[in-house]
Amino acid sequence: MHQERDGREKVWAALDRPWDLIVIGGGIMGAGVLREAARCGLRVLLVEQNDFASGTSSRSSKLVHGGLRYLKTGQWQLTLESVRERERLLREGAGLIEPLGFVLPVYKRQRPPGWMLRAGLYAYDLMSGRLQHRALDTSELMFTAPHIRETGLQGGLLYPDAQTDDARLTLRVIQEALAASPQSAALNYARAEILRENGRVCGVRLQDRVSGRQAEARASVVISASGVWADKLRGQLGAAPRLRPLRGSHLVFPFHRVPVAQAVSLFHPRDRRPVFVFPWEGVVILGTTDLDHAEGLEREPAISTGEARYLMEALQHQFPALGVRLEHAIASYCGVRPVIAGGQADPSKESREFALWEEEGLLTLTGGKLTTFRVTAQQVLRKAARRLPALEALSDAAPILDPLPAAAPDARLSPEMWRRLRGRYGARAAQLLAEAQAGDLEPVGDSVYRWAELRWAAAHESVVHLQDLLLRRTRIGLVLRDGGLPLLPQVRAQCQPVLGWSDARWQEEEAAYRELWQRCYRVPQA
Ligand code: FAD
Repeated sequence: MHQERDGREKVWAALDRPWDLIVIGGGIMGAGVLREAARCGLRVLLVEQNDFASGTSSRSSKLVHGGLRYLKTGQWQLTLESVRERERLLREGAGLIEPLGFVLPVYKRQRPPGWMLRAGLYAYDLMSGRLQHRALDTSELMFTAPHIRETGLQGGLLYPDAQTDDARLTLRVIQEALAASPQSAALNYARAEILRENGRVCGVRLQDRVSGRQAEARASVVISASGVWADKLRGQLGAAPRLRPLRGSHLVFPFHRVPVAQAVSLFHPRDRRPVFVFPWEGVVILGTTDLDHAEGLEREPAISTGEARYLMEALQHQFPALGVRLEHAIASYCGVRPVIAGGQADPSKESREFALWEEEGLLTLTGGKLTTFRVTAQQVLRKAARRLPALEALSDAAPILDPLPAAAPDARLSPEMWRRLRGRYGARAAQLLAEAQAGDLEPVGDSVYRWAELRWAAAHESVVHLQDLLLRRTRIGLVLRDGGLPLLPQVRAQCQPVLGWSDARWQEEEAAYRELWQRCYRVPQA
C-alpha cells in the first residue's frame, strides 16, 4: 500500500466508479484476495473499517508454519498446505519471512511421549519433501535453550519453521497489489455495510470513520474477508452466526530476560497445551492462550490477569533458573481467532480450517491461517469466477510476493538490515533509503527499527492515527518499554511535519495512543 497524504481523499472521490470486485476487510485474507484479483486485471476496491491489519492480522503469533499441533487433531490437509506455503514464502520473502528453528525438549515420562513427537516430525518432513528435523542430546539442547529445566531431561528435537511480521506482510501484499493494478484501491477507516438490490448483494455503503461522511460503491462481486467480524456482516442478511471467537494472548519480554536463540515449544504443566516462547524483532514473545472471547468485538481485546498467570506458569515451569516474573514483561497483545463453531467443549479442539459461504451473492471467507492466505484467497476467487470470468486467469505458479531486482546493499547499512528493509518494504526500500536524512538510519531507542522507517510510513503509508504508525507500520509499541511513550517527543519531531498534523491534533493522537496502550498492550499486575 502506497498512499501519499491525500491518497484517501482521492479514493473517496472515485468511489462511484464501476468496480468488478469489492473486498471487505484489510487483514491478510482481504489483502490476498485483492492481490490475486488485481493480478487478473480486475478493478478491485478493498475497504477496511479500522487500519489495515488492525484485526487479527497484526496480533497473531507471527509464525509461518505448518502447524505441527494440527497433526494431532487430524488436520492433515491444513498442515500439508501450510508446509508448502511456508516453503514458498521463505523463498520469495527473504527479509520478511525468515527461518526459525523450533526446539521440543523431551522429558522422561512426558505426555505426549518423545516417540510420538518424532513420528509427527517425520510426517511434517514428508510434507516438505526433505528430512529436516534432528534429535538433540542433552548438552546440545542446553546450548540451544540455556536455563531450561534439567530434571528428567532426555534431550530434544529440533525442526525448522519460519516467522514474519504479520502486519508488514499484510501491508506488503496490499502495496504490491496496488502497484500492479492502478485501477484498484484500498481504503482504511471505512466501515462497510451490505448493499442489496432485488435480494442480491450489489455493493457496500461506506462510512468514513475519520470525517463521518457516507458513500456507496457497487461491484459485480462482494467478498467479505472480515475475519472474526464475519457474522456481523452476514447478520445484515439475516444469516445465523457460525463463529466462535477465541482469544489468544501473548506476553513480550526483553531478550535478556528470556534468552532463547530459537523457539522453544513447551507443554503447559496444567493442561498439556502447547505454548511457545520465541525471539522476534529483538524481543521474546510468549504465547498463546485459547479462550472463548465473550467481551464483544467493538473494542480491542486485552489480556486478562488469569491468562498472564497461565502463560507465566508455563515459562517458569520450563525455565526455573531464569527467575523470570510477570513484572519483567514489557508488553502484551492479543488477537481473536475466527474459528468455526464445531460444538467442542475444549476450544483448542475446534478446527482451524477456513470456511467459505455464499449467501445472497455475498461470498464470506473466514478462519484459516496467515500462512495459507494465498491458497485461501484463490479458493474464494475461484468461487467468484463464474461472475467474473477474468478470474479464470488465476495461477498457482504466480509469485506470492514480487521478486525484487538485485540491488547492491546500501553502504550505510549492515547486510542484515538491508535484507530486513527489502523484505518489509519490497520494491520501495530503495526509495525509503534515498529519502533518509542524516541520523535517520539510527535505531529508534534500542529497537531494530530505524527513524527512516517511521518517516517513510508517515509520508507514504496511509497513516491516519498515531497508533497505525507505532503498532503496525512499525511495531515500536510492542518492542519498546512502555510502548515507546518516552520516545514520543522525538517521534513527534520527526513525524508531525510529515503527517501535517497541527499541535492540537498531535496531542489528541498522543492521548489516544497512551489510553489504548494502557488498556490493551500493557502487562497486567501479577
Ligand atoms: P483479520 O486480520 O481480522 O481481518 C479482517 C478485517 O476485516 C479486520 O481488519 C476488520 O477490521 C475488517 N472488517 C470487519 N468488518 C468490517 C466492515 N464492516 N467494514 C470494513 N472492514 C471490516 N496464523 C498463522 O499462520 N501463524 C500464526 O502464528 C498464527 N497465530 C495466531 C495467533 C493468534 C492469537 C490468533 C488470534 C491467530 C493466529 N493465526 C496464525 C491466525 C491468523 O492470524 C488469522 O487467521 C489471520 O490473521 C486472519 O486474517 P483475516 O484477514 O481473515 O482477519
